[in-house]
Amino acid sequence: MEMNRICDLFDIQYPVIQAGMIWCSPWQLASTVSNAGGLGIIGSGSMYPEVLREHVEKCKQATDKPFAVNLPLLYPNIEEHIQTIIDYKVPIVFTSAGNPKTWTSKLKEHGIKVVHVVSSAKFAQKAEAAGCDAVVAEGFEAGGHNGREETTTMVLIPQAVQAVQIPVIAAGGIGTGRGMLAAMALGAEGVQIGSRFAATIESSAHENFKNAIVEAGEGDTLLTLKELVPVRLMKNKFFNEVMNAYTNKATKEDLAGLLGRGRAKKGMFEGNLDEGELEIGQIASLINEVKPASEVFNEIVLEFEAAKKELQSPNFNFKA
Ligand code: NDP
Repeated sequence: MEMNRICDLFDIQYPVIQAGMIWCSPWQLASTVSNAGGLGIIGSGSMYPEVLREHVEKCKQATDKPFAVNLPLLYPNIEEHIQTIIDYKVPIVFTSAGNPKTWTSKLKEHGIKVVHVVSSAKFAQKAEAAGCDAVVAEGFEAGGHNGREETTTMVLIPQAVQAVQIPVIAAGGIGTGRGMLAAMALGAEGVQIGSRFAATIESSAHENFKNAIVEAGEGDTLLTLKELVPVRLMKNKFFNEVMNAYTNKATKEDLAGLLGRGRAKKGMFEGNLDEGELEIGQIASLINEVKPASEVFNEIVLEFEAAKKELQSPNFNFKA
């Protein structure tokens, strides 16, 4: 694969980034993806400060390649996470769910590369103005927290690419080499893949959740709870309760009460498939097996190369 700006920026071989998903992205997954030649990310949103310190330490022992930490800006003890990242010299941070202005300059003062996750071209410009090195443009197909405007990856990527000079990493609905090639054809210089890596051996998701991802078919996820924070969930008992609440004209407060605390942990980490919140992308319907992350990674890269060759072949034309 030729070098591009994302490979240069992160000093990685392939522009394939594993998303830092809450409850699913421990040091085992991040270091495996980094060792395979991509960028692995530890998901710090679900980690208490001492837990993040342990994961960063272990990740450093498991790989000498660059890795990143995902930092949701709405995280309650964010100063402690920032300190951990600085103390351990984590080279790259992906921020999400908040204003990129707040922490970007402090991280950059310490030589840390900063990438912000956005759901619109307008927010991509804000991230660029805040000094971010790249953006992840995440479309409507993505699992978990999502944009309010439901812009699909297909529509979002070319707009984000037009709006900013910094490189754009595409996310949302990408889990295969062909999907990666499509995103690059739209102008992305890298891809961020979440759901496919949630269903790997190294993911810290509960077995029940991994199996549910494998079982999920077309139409089994929907974006909901827009009044709180829009989130794409797998349909289950809890999801149906949310739907019933809407039918009964629930207020924002009713919905917050129904959601309660720790639903995501219950579903994704403890494996309670009825009562938990199961955050996963539409691509779950294309995931048919729980595999080692390195195998998933290699398949994506090989399929990307094969599909690229196929499109370049003289046999690929529009004549009958
Ligand atoms: P809730 O408020 O429902 O629950 C908080 C959960 O986070 C609990 O399960 C708790 O674990 C865990 N947790 C980890 N560190 C802390 C801490 N320092 N203080 C309090 N709780 C902590 O939140 P959610 O489950 O919806 O989300 C959890 C976190 O994930 C959010 O705070 C947010 O930072 C992040 N998030 C980021 C997203 C993104 O950026 N894309 C998407 C979704 C969430 P325990 O039960 O062991 O106390």
